[in-house]
Amino acid sequence: MADLGNPKNTIAVLQKYQFNFAKKFGQNFLIDTHVLDKIIQAAEITKEDYVLEIGPGIGTMTQYLCEAAKAVIAVEIDDNLIPILQDTLQAYDNVTVLHQDILKVDLTELVRERCEGKPIKVVANLPYYITTPIIMGLFEGQVPLTSVTVMVQKEVAQRMQAGPGTKDYGALSLAVQYFSQPYLVANVPPNCFMPRPKVGSAVIRLTRHEKPPVEVKDQRLLFALIRASFNQRRKTLVNGLSNSPEISFSKEEILKAVEALGAGLTVRGEALTLEQFARLADLLK
Ligand code: SAM
Repeated sequence: MADLGNPKNTIAVLQKYQFNFAKKFGQNFLIDTHVLDKIIQAAEITKEDYVLEIGPGIGTMTQYLCEAAKAVIAVEIDDNLIPILQDTLQAYDNVTVLHQDILKVDLTELVRERCEGKPIKVVANLPYYITTPIIMGLFEGQVPLTSVTVMVQKEVAQRMQAGPGTKDYGALSLAVQYFSQPYLVANVPPNCFMPRPKVGSAVIRLTRHEKPPVEVKDQRLLFALIRASFNQRRKTLVNGLSNSPEISFSKEEILKAVEALGAGLTVRGEALTLEQFARLADLLK
């Protein structure tokens, strides 16, 4: 099958199947061979690797992944793309297409069953409407993986890498950095996709930490504190935590812990580092 990274070949497939893009599934197909090469390179795929691709579309990146990897599992939700993928991927015997919603797949089970128990590499041009649940599901769900190399909205890539005190810093930054080391691979303009998205995009690689950079007694409490602090971003940390339905400590307990943190009682959550959030969780525990 011809290289679908070439726009002419993509158009031919879309016409052959009279495919209509489904907006609700965040469909923006890649039509730039340089970007595709860059993604495969950044993901460091070798013939030893099992790869999970989320949302293969018409199979453009899947073809590149099949060439580079030992095996590829591609999970696609759209009924209309399944017959197309059978056609565009027919030359490859190392790909399995699963017709499912990625948010409903038990990925840990999938990896155990199909990947000899080896950790996978995740590679995707993500559907932007579910970027955060996908990333958090992969990390918090403890799916055995070594890295996640994905196309996301440019602003989301910025949030993933942001540090304390910046406007982009938030719950996503802290969660991503707790589990992984983010690295911005490339910014990608709208004309590399069909149809063109309204927003800029970026490829980001998240390399999973073998061990989180901070130790904390209760990881669930850590994330509850982080979420509560950023839900009411403009409030002080003490008020944000006291008002949160997710946090069950009294205002006195919270005041005591924040005081012990030594950052001042009027500090806002957005000024705290991951280490400080971990320390706060341990103080409250
Ligand atoms: N990988 C293709 C490419 O780069 O050309 C398509 C990427 S497109 C941005 C996102 C893909 O994810 C679409 O094929 C869409 O149908 C699929 N998708 C959307 N929601 C999904 C879900 N919940 N589970 C699995 N696939 C989904």
